[in-house]
Amino acid sequence: MCGAEREAASRGGASASVEDRGTPAPAADPALLDDLVAANRILAHYGVVDAFGHVSLRHDKDPGRFLLSRNMAPGLVTREDIVEFDLEGAPVDARGRRVYLERFLHGQIFKARPDVRAVVHSHAPDLLPFGLVEGVELRPVWHMAGFLGAFGRDSVPLFEIRDSAGPASDLLIRDNALGAALAGSLGAAPVVLMRGHGATLVGESLPVAVFRSVYTKMNADVLLRALPLGAVTYLTPGEAEATTETNGSQIRRAWELWKREVGSAP
Ligand code: MN
Repeated sequence: MCGAEREAASRGGASASVEDRGTPAPAADPALLDDLVAANRILAHYGVVDAFGHVSLRHDKDPGRFLLSRNMAPGLVTREDIVEFDLEGAPVDARGRRVYLERFLHGQIFKARPDVRAVVHSHAPDLLPFGLVEGVELRPVWHMAGFLGAFGRDSVPLFEIRDSAGPASDLLIRDNALGAALAGSLGAAPVVLMRGHGATLVGESLPVAVFRSVYTKMNADVLLRALPLGAVTYLTPGEAEATTETNGSQIRRAWELWKREVGSAP
């Protein structure tokens, strides 16, 4: 560790080497590890993540564990970079490799939502305007993103970190208390916006979480282009529910294409 890194770690910088805790679960299905690597690359390809952001998968052999890359750009992740964590965000087999500071958001969402098997965290700028301007909500305007208005609410919930961390935080989910607060704002929704930061998206599988991430970003882009033109027609709650049900059977189609496009190792 160089001097600057040591200083960053001492004040709680954006990444750190953390001591391992516990013993590893039985080995995860290799096909799922390959899917997690592919998810990292697909999300990078579609601009959901860049050098920052991350995607996790609940462990298939132990629901109290999840799999997440070590601290690195998602587009460069390989199977060897995947680390196992417990739901408190403690690494099991990092072996000194630096881990993401915001790993707590993954663990706390997996803890709060037994139905969730994959979590994506994004800083995509297309999503940021929603949650910054009073009265402007992220709502579905396109059938591919009907899920944004399904699950019992017609817009995406917003996490305001000032409610938990006060007016001078760095906006990052840097501990389990903030992770739990974020999970509380997410509730039963598929997506939660994070004011001034980005968004976190979930799914009952990795393909579903990736599909929602890609189409949330695209819906935001369409809506940003429509808003200056005049009054926007959003999907009705009924349309949101119906399109979500229809698209549910089509997600593999997108997943197979995306894996072929960008999912293989460089
Ligand atoms: Mn973040």
